[in-house]
Amino acid sequence: MRRRRKRKITLKRRLQWLGAWSVLIFAVLLTGGIVAGTFVGIRKFCDNYAQKKSREAAATHINERKTQSGGNSKLEKDLQPDKESGNLQEEEEDMLQEGEEDQLEETLILVNKSFYLPTNYEVPLISLDNGQQIAEVMYGDLQNMLMDGARATKSTLLVSSGFRTSEKQEQLLKEEIEKNINAGMGEDEARKDALMTVAPAHYSEHETGLAVDIVSVANQRLDETQEDTAANQWLRENCADYGFILRYPRGKEDVTGFSYESWHFRYVGKAAAEEIMQRGITLEEYLGG
Ligand SMILES: [Zn+2]
Repeated sequence: MRRRRKRKITLKRRLQWLGAWSVLIFAVLLTGGIVAGTFVGIRKFCDNYAQKKSREAAATHINERKTQSGGNSKLEKDLQPDKESGNLQEEEEDMLQEGEEDQLEETLILVNKSFYLPTNYEVPLISLDNGQQIAEVMYGDLQNMLMDGARATKSTLLVSSGFRTSEKQEQLLKEEIEKNINAGMGEDEARKDALMTVAPAHYSEHETGLAVDIVSVANQRLDETQEDTAANQWLRENCADYGFILRYPRGKEDVTGFSYESWHFRYVGKAAAEEIMQRGITLEEYLGG
């Protein structure tokens, strides 16, 4: 009888312990859940806030650039924006206002000999295996394009030049002018000739991080021989599928201000790239000036 009672008490205690532990575990889990939920909530709020700020900055930026372009840009006067481009621009503005396309302004930024890069321009960069840096936003599309191009042409495609600092750009122009002078040109002619292929600091697309010079490893020369490579032919035919355009096409020198460059590709996003390449126009014409 005594023994039985003792066993009964032990069992009761065990049940009490079990109950206590269950309550404790439940309480810990509940607290953990509340803490995690709060953390996720705060993070989401911060992310939304940051996105809102970046959209506002982009909208301000596009307006600033439009004000700038309302000035005395020779290039703009030369361009005849057609109705279609005008509508496109309006559509783009609507999209921007609605916040449907966060990266619109970022990938459609216009930098050429008339439109300089804003001094407060910032772009998140990412490094490629060969050390060249590019805008983070195009990383995935670029990698896919390089891989598919390599597979299709059985050759290796290489980004020989991506992002450049203004200092680097200035240095490149200086070197090009010196090269021309050494080849026998006068100073003015040397500079004029150099400017057909190399932009001055703050006026190069390479400073945006959205432009890449892509060559075939077998021929890394940035000259007219590049377009004969299978890699370059494939790139020019397929780049739009990956959001890229051939930025300085043949026959559009008066619009872009640059000689034809079969190797220079610019990331603008898939929708814009498709339209630009399909219509055989330039970024200047697409943006309507
Ligand atoms: Zn280039």
